[in-house]
Amino acid sequence: MIGVHPSLGEPFSFPYMKPLFNCILFSILFLSCQNGERTSEMGLGSFQESYRHSTIQSYISLFKEHPTFSAGEGFGHPVGFPDGKGYYNAQPFKKNYHLGDDLNGVGGGDTDYGDDIHSIGNGYTLFASDLGRWSGWGKVIAIIHETNIKERPFIISLYAHCSEMHIRKHDWVKRGQIIGKIGNADGLYKSHLHFEVRDDIFMGIGSGYKMDTTGYINPSDFVEQHLFINGESPNR
Ligand SMILES: [Zn+2]
Repeated sequence: MIGVHPSLGEPFSFPYMKPLFNCILFSILFLSCQNGERTSEMGLGSFQESYRHSTIQSYISLFKEHPTFSAGEGFGHPVGFPDGKGYYNAQPFKKNYHLGDDLNGVGGGDTDYGDDIHSIGNGYTLFASDLGRWSGWGKVIAIIHETNIKERPFIISLYAHCSEMHIRKHDWVKRGQIIGKIGNADGLYKSHLHFEVRDDIFMGIGSGYKMDTTGYINPSDFVEQHLFINGESPNR
C-alpha cells in the first residue's frame, strides 16, 4: 500500500468477545466503585491479562470443536499456492516501514488482477469486509490459524485490496481454499495482494505501515519456514 492510513481501531470481533468484554468492563467499573481512587493500573493490567487468557482459551476450545480445521501439516503461499511460483514480492516486510508483503504477478502491472487468493492454512474467518477506497484498504480478509508452534499457538493472516471476497466472517476455511481475488482497492493502486501475518491476535486493522513491527511477523518467511507441499515440509 502507498501512504499511511489511519488506524480504524476496530478489533476483529469474535462471537464470544462482546459479552466477555462487557462482563470485564462491568467488573472494572464495579471494582472502581468499590475501591474509589485505589483501582490501580496494575489492577487494570491484570484484568487485561485474564481477558487475553480467556480469549485464547476460547479459540483453543473453538478449534477443538472443529478438528478438521486444526493446524494440519503446515502452510502455503497465498498466491501461486502452495509454492508461490509466478509471483514476486514488490515491497517486502519492513521496507519503508511496511507491515506486510506486496505480492505481484511476474507479468507486472495489472496482469494479476483477478488472480486467485488462497488461504495459507486451515482456519476461521475473523473479518471479511469492504473498508472502502478512502481507507486505503479496500476489501480485507483476516483468518486465524492454529499453528502447532508452542510459543505461538495462533497467527492471523490478512489479505487486502481484494477485488472479490469468496468467504464471509465466521466461515471455516481449508488450507489452499480460494478465498478471494487479487485487486487494486478500487483503482487506488496497481493490483497486488497486501499480505500480513500477525502473531498478536488482538490488534485492530492497523495502519499497513509502522516503524514498530511488534505483533507482526515476516509473512513470506513464516510461510517458507512452515511450507507443506505434496506431503513434505521442504524447509524443516
Ligand atoms: Zn502493502
